[in-house]
Amino acid sequence: MADDTIRSQHTSPLTRSRLAPNAGPMTLEGTNSYLIAAPDSSSIVVVDPGPLDEGHLAALAAAGRVELVLITHRHADHTAGSVRFAALTHAPVRAFDAAYCVNGDPLSDRELLSAAGTSIRVLATPGHTDDSICLHLPDDGPAGSVLTGDTVLGRGTSIIDGTLADYLASLEVLRALGPATVLPAHGPVLPDLAAICTAYLAHRHERLDQVRSALTSLGSDASVAQVTDLVYARTDAAVRFAAEASVRAQLAYLRSER
Ligand SMILES: [Zn+2]
Repeated sequence: MADDTIRSQHTSPLTRSRLAPNAGPMTLEGTNSYLIAAPDSSSIVVVDPGPLDEGHLAALAAAGRVELVLITHRHADHTAGSVRFAALTHAPVRAFDAAYCVNGDPLSDRELLSAAGTSIRVLATPGHTDDSICLHLPDDGPAGSVLTGDTVLGRGTSIIDGTLADYLASLEVLRALGPATVLPAHGPVLPDLAAICTAYLAHRHERLDQVRSALTSLGSDASVAQVTDLVYARTDAAVRFAAEASVRAQLAYLRSER
């Protein structure tokens, strides 16, 4: 497991990550694929093989004997390489949604996995997508760590491709894990999950207040585009669709409250 051969970096006592070459407006520097292994383990777990990039997948496969592959959610920047990676490693690929499993069973909420010499707790955290999960490593350093997928990012905020009600509930589930190390699928590692969840919740409630006041001035039947123009006025054109998705989720949330 020579780190320089696979250009991975240590991200916590039990994990390393390797950045996939898919930088973009939605992926930041690219997708972080994670490798999980206890120091004395003869096998590894790979989380999110990422895009279908032969060089990236070959490097992950060369990092050790891959025992299990886990998927944080269905988006292509996490899953497009899954079938190829399963062929390279002969390891089962497990996801919450059966459609993204390869020779493996779907994951369930609170399932406790034992692999690569350590314990991995699956937490269903819908909101970014309906099938989003986080992976809690309770033995990874003094406060544990959590692989957060796209539910909590290393920088900026997550888009809502599921429902906002689910997302807010998922942030509360994660916040209850305390000051665990945050290992996001995009952007840098963060030190304190509870603190970042508190900040995300505050940001979401601030946005909801902005959407509420936009509806007051535009009228309660205002369109997604009209509300986006007001609330996300300074958003770059490349991520306008993401801003509109967030507004759509917020309008659905507010309209279901009435
Ligand atoms: Zn995603």
